[in-house]
Amino acid sequence: MRWKGRRESNQVEDQRASGGSFGGGGASPLALMAIFSRLGVKGTIVVVILGLIVWKVFGINPLAVVGGQSLSQQTAQPYQETAEDAQTRQMVQVILADTEDTWQQIFASSGQQYQKPTLVLFRNGVQSGCGTAQSAMGPFYCPVDQKVYIDLSFFQQMRQQMGISGDQQNSSETTRNDQAGDFAEAYVIAHEVGHHVQNLLGISTKVQQARQQASESQSNALSVRQELQADCFAGVWANHNQQRTQFLQAGDVEEAMDAAHKIGDDYLQKQATGHVVPDSFTHGTSAQRSHWFNTGLKTGDINQCDTFNASQL
Ligand SMILES: [Zn+2]
Repeated sequence: MRWKGRRESNQVEDQRASGGSFGGGGASPLALMAIFSRLGVKGTIVVVILGLIVWKVFGINPLAVVGGQSLSQQTAQPYQETAEDAQTRQMVQVILADTEDTWQQIFASSGQQYQKPTLVLFRNGVQSGCGTAQSAMGPFYCPVDQKVYIDLSFFQQMRQQMGISGDQQNSSETTRNDQAGDFAEAYVIAHEVGHHVQNLLGISTKVQQARQQASESQSNALSVRQELQADCFAGVWANHNQQRTQFLQAGDVEEAMDAAHKIGDDYLQKQATGHVVPDSFTHGTSAQRSHWFNTGLKTGDINQCDTFNASQL
């Protein structure tokens, strides 16, 4: 995939320095023991009771107050961006800018205005408008704050799963000017932005309302259709972006399909449990994901992405 030299989005919020230490910036057990040993048993009991009152009445976590600024500064590990992470971040910024330009164009063509989402980079864990999230959950979009959340370590895992070694990543003799696997990463970003587009078009709200009145299996089926539409929207983006920037290189789409296959629910479930439970699918099978991405890619038309009324997924 070609991505260097294009505009980088400024809609990126870098929270990697906080490293998921939110809510954990309180006192360490050692510091607490030091404080309590100075207070003695009675003093400690008084302080704990006072602390509980403060907690109940004012909603302030006394441990966080005791911990204070200096302690959390001592324990926080400063984040140093590696050269590899800097490269990935730049790629993310370029792809995000690509999605902005493409969706702006598509929205404008039907007389609508596209509102750009924010992309949050985080490590370990993050506080989002949709609640606390851990990196293990993978990238996600929160419709409440209109932000895409990504821990770049997900891309490392994906490269490993796709069997891309460090050698291949750094190889300069290949025809591609960038890393192997990078279009698969772009596809992940485009999929999350696809959820943002669903949100802007009012689709997410409708699905959420329908899911509230549905049985668990019906609700999962709706979720699958929503996910497959986000894949289709990612394909629509790739189609338009190709016309605009000629960014695709030989093998890129196969690469993304391979990634879609490996992050398809059936694959992940097989990996995890050795068997597949179709009723609990929330993302669709690998074949379905490939099909809908390709539908978007070939047609470049969001009207072809009506997964909700498709008789066959
Ligand atoms: Zn999704």
